[in-house]
Amino acid sequence: MKAGTSCIFCRIVAGDIPAEVVARDPDVIAFLDLEPLADGHVLVVPRAHAAAIEQLDADAADHLFRLVRRLADPVRRAVGAVGSTIGINNGEASGQTVPHVHVHIVPRWPNDGAGSVHTIFPRRTSRTLAEVGAAIRQAVDA
Ligand code: AMP
Ligand code: ZN
Repeated sequence: MKAGTSCIFCRIVAGDIPAEVVARDPDVIAFLDLEPLADGHVLVVPRAHAAAIEQLDADAADHLFRLVRRLADPVRRAVGAVGSTIGINNGEASGQTVPHVHVHIVPRWPNDGAGSVHTIFPRRTSRTLAEVGAAIRQAVDA
C-alpha cells in the first residue's frame, strides 16, 4: 500500500502525518502510540504495508523483530520501567484496529494494574493437546 492511501501507518511511514518517532532504519520505524497505555508505549512498524503477520515477508519480519529487540531495553530505561509487555494484535478477531502490522512495546512496573498476556483469555479449550498438536503439525507441513 502506498502513501496517500487510507492506511494510517503507511501515511506515518510516508511522513504525511506526524508521529513521535523514536527510532528508524531502512525497513522499520518506531513511534509513540497516540493513546499510550503507559508512558513509553511504542509501536514498531514495518515500512512496507502488510496487514497481518501472515502477509509479512520473511526479511521484513527479521528487520521488525531486530528493532523490537534493540528498543526493548532503551524504552524501559527511558521511562524507568522494570519490564515490558511486547505483543501483537494479529487480525481483527484479536482486536487489531490498525490493519498494518505493528508490535506494541508497553513498559511495565510492579503493581501497575495490568496483567500478563494470560489475563486476556478466559482459557476456553475443547480439544486435547495431542489432537491440536497433530493438527498443527499437519498444517505446518501442508
Ligand atoms: P491495535 O489495536 O493493535 O491495532 O493498535 C493500534 C494502536 O495504534 C492503538 O494503540 C492506537 O492508539 C494507535 N494509533 C492509532 N493511530 C495512531 C497514530 N496516528 N499515531 C500513533 N498511534 C496511533
Ligand atoms: Zn499500511
